[in-house]
Amino acid sequence: MGPYRTLYLDMNSFFASVEQQIDPSICGRPVAITAMENEKGCCVAASYEAKAYGIKTGTSVADARRMCRDIVFLPSRHRLYVRYNLRVAAVLDRYAELERIRSVDEFQLGLSGHATKLEGARDLVTRLKAAVAAEVGECLRFSAGIGPNHLLAKIAGKLEKPDGCQHLGPDNMPHRLAHLALDDLPGISRAMSARLQNAGIHDVPALCRLDPRHARAIWRSVEGERFVRALQGEAIPLVKTKRGGYGNSKVLAPAFRAPPEAYLVSRWLVEKAAARLRRDGRVAASFGLQLSPMGRTTWAASMRCAQTQDTLEFLRINRALWRTAWPVIRRAKLAGIGIHLGDVDLLDARTGDLLLPVRPGERTNGERAARAADFINQRFGAGTITYGINQPHPGFSSADDSINPAYASPLSGSAGPQRRRRRRSRSSGRGVLEDV
Ligand SMILES: [Mg+2]
Repeated sequence: MGPYRTLYLDMNSFFASVEQQIDPSICGRPVAITAMENEKGCCVAASYEAKAYGIKTGTSVADARRMCRDIVFLPSRHRLYVRYNLRVAAVLDRYAELERIRSVDEFQLGLSGHATKLEGARDLVTRLKAAVAAEVGECLRFSAGIGPNHLLAKIAGKLEKPDGCQHLGPDNMPHRLAHLALDDLPGISRAMSARLQNAGIHDVPALCRLDPRHARAIWRSVEGERFVRALQGEAIPLVKTKRGGYGNSKVLAPAFRAPPEAYLVSRWLVEKAAARLRRDGRVAASFGLQLSPMGRTTWAASMRCAQTQDTLEFLRINRALWRTAWPVIRRAKLAGIGIHLGDVDLLDARTGDLLLPVRPGERTNGERAARAADFINQRFGAGTITYGINQPHPGFSSADDSINPAYASPLSGSAGPQRRRRRRSRSSGRGVLEDV
């Protein structure tokens, strides 16, 4: 067995590549995907031909036109990109263990056998590139990163674009990352970079040499220790131990403002949030509901429950809270609704009790059924299995922090992953590792 456990694939200029794949007349031409069909909008993605002119995510349409007169603007078609994401995932899954779809254009695969050695992993990448080109389309290329864990594989995947294949391992760490700034690393914000500078850590090699216990003190959290251990090549999964909660809220379109309709939208929000909770290996011990009648004060209530990640449990509490709210809101029009799964902890840290006789990390029957539904929905499209009747809501005014398109309803529109992309590009320092 070699030291490599994870392969990370980052599609190159994914949105623009999909458009080029569909329309051969724009293949090889500068293409920018825009958020809105007017001059006020900005580019949410650019093809490599457009990037050569300096156009990138966030460039305004007017500026992009000035930088490149021949550029082709196309409005974003998010559902199309999600469909292509799933097609790529299906191909990858036949050649290797697809551990996770990380975003609309990123995939994480597990390496085993011969592929845990560098040569074997590189062979696998060559096969995957050929298979994606042959079965999904030649325009769809990706950069691959090979590493002993998710963090190093992800960083390696950002080192060479487009169509690259790089590794980070015992033979080239940490000097291979010496050219990067601290906040170029995923997970290091500008604020954390400043904190590291204050602690005398000025570059990536110094961070790699840091004693993990010291890192815990600098981060003021076990996250720091995990991060540095991952940088040092330990085979630990990159999961946060704490998280504020899983929220989902919607400003309702007029057609959904009557309480019976809004109730069905709330069921859909619960399903989405609970799927994200399970995807992250977590359990929640409280459920909150917020209803905003038009022109009246917001109604909000929450309820505690045993730690769970079972969608049906949350749906029961949701129903109970709606019954409580009913006398207040039944004649109202609801401008917005929100649900929140709180008091979150890791599933592995849950200890059973008399009422919940499970071992740490073990799932209840309901949770196992929910996981099976997640798997089917991920494979065959969101909404293949639902928990009774729900009502997906168009995504035009979403306050949703959903990040994984595999869990987003096809009707949820384009808000999630694109919003995240813009947020990320603001927060990632110099953006050396950016690619959309
Ligand atoms: Mg990409």
